[in-house]
Amino acid sequence: KRICILGSGGREYAIGWAFKKFGFDVYFYPGNAGTKNIGKNIQINNFDELSNFDMVIPGSEEFLVKGIADGKANVFGPDSKGARLEGSKCFAKTFMKKHGILTANFQIATDEISLYDALKAFKPPYVIKADGLAQGKGVVICDTFDEAMDIGQKLIKGQLIPNVKGPVVVDEFLKGWELSAIAIVNGTDFALLPFTRDYKRAFTNNEGPNTGGMGAFGPVEIDSKLKEKIKNLFSKTLNGLKEDGIYYRGFLYIGLMIVNDEPYVLEYNVRLGDPETEVIVAMDPGKFVENILKAFNNERFEEYTPNNYSVDVVLASQGYPENPMKGQEIYIEHDECEDWMIFYAGVTEKDGKLLVNGGRVLHSIGIGKTLSQAREKAYRNIEKVKFEGMFYRNDIALYQGE
Ligand code: ATP
Repeated sequence: KRICILGSGGREYAIGWAFKKFGFDVYFYPGNAGTKNIGKNIQINNFDELSNFDMVIPGSEEFLVKGIADGKANVFGPDSKGARLEGSKCFAKTFMKKHGILTANFQIATDEISLYDALKAFKPPYVIKADGLAQGKGVVICDTFDEAMDIGQKLIKGQLIPNVKGPVVVDEFLKGWELSAIAIVNGTDFALLPFTRDYKRAFTNNEGPNTGGMGAFGPVEIDSKLKEKIKNLFSKTLNGLKEDGIYYRGFLYIGLMIVNDEPYVLEYNVRLGDPETEVIVAMDPGKFVENILKAFNNERFEEYTPNNYSVDVVLASQGYPENPMKGQEIYIEHDECEDWMIFYAGVTEKDGKLLVNGGRVLHSIGIGKTLSQAREKAYRNIEKVKFEGMFYRNDIALYQGE
C-alpha cells in the first residue's frame, strides 16, 4: 500500500513513521532530510499525480484550503468547503452562531466604522482576528481601545501581516484555560484521539513569544462531564456541516477555552496539530493507524485509550520564532533507543551533512508507562543531540497547567 504525506515538519514525519511501522510504502511531498530515511521524498508538479496513491494525508491546512481534497476520494481530509472552518474565521464564527455552538460573542468588522462599533460592544482586553490563514499570527490581543482601533485597521488594510487583509472578527475576551481536542471524522461519525497538552510559549515558565509549539504530552486526563460537553461540540459541528451540505472527512481539531467548566470553541483546524501529532503517534502508533484506516474505509472506528504516555520536547534553533538561525550542522549520536526516538522537522541535507533548516529542528520523544518515565526519557536523551544555538523548554509535562 502506498501512502503520500503532504508537508515537511515533525507532524508529517510522525505520521509517516507510524504508517511505515505497519507495512506501508511511505512517500512525502516535499518532506525533509529526515523523512527520506523512512520513505521517499518526491516532487509533485500537478496534484492530479496524487491519484496514484492508495491514500493521501495532508499535514498542513494550506493544501486543504486550496482544495486538494476536492473530488479526490483517496485524500483523507475535507474539501475546500469544509476547510473554510479553518480558512475563514468569519465563516467559522458565523457557522458556530448559526448552529448553536458555544463560542465567544463576536462581531465582524470590514472598515473603520464597523470596527469602531464592534470594539465599542466589548470591554478590554480586545481580541481581533484576521479572517484568513496567517501562520498563527492572525490573532492580536490589545489592552486599550486606541491600540485595538489601530491594529484592527492595519489588519483590514493589509498593513500588519503580509498577504493578509480584509474583514476581521472582534471577539469577546474569554478568561479560562485552554485545551485542544482532535477527532477523526469519516463523513458521519467521529472518534476522539487522546487529549494532549501543548506548550506555546518559547521559554520555560511560559515566558517569551508564542510559537508553533515547544512541546507536548499526553494523554491528558479529562473530567468525564467536560469530555461529554466536548463531544457534544463535535456532534453539533458535524450536524451543522451536514445541514449546510458539507461532507467532512479527515481530522477535526477544536481549540477550546474552558470557562467555569464550560468549553467554548476558540477555533477550528481542519488537520492534525504539531506537536500534538507527535505525542499521539508515539503513545500508540497502532491504534492511530488502525483508526485512520477504518475511517478511510468506512469501517467502524472508535475512541481508544493509548498504551503509553508520551512527552515531546522540541529542540529549537536560536532566534525561533522570529528569526531562527539556520545552516548549522547537527550531530546525532543515534536517533532511537528503548522508549525514545527523534522525530525530524526543520532539517535539510547538504554534502552528506544534516543541517538546521527551520525553527523547530527536532523532537525528542519519550515513551513510558507513566508520565514521569516518558518525561525522563525525552529529557535524558537530549544529550545525544547537538547543534549550535539549540534551545528547549525545561518544563514540558512538568505541570498539567491551567
Ligand atoms: P493557531 O496558531 O493555534 O492556529 P490561530 O492564530 O488560528 O491559532 P486562535 O486559536 O483563534 O488563532 O487564537 C490564538 C490564541 O489567541 C488562542 O490560543 C488564545 O490563547 C487566544 N484567543 C483567541 N480567542 C480568544 C478569546 N476570545 N479570548 C481570549 N483569548 C483568545
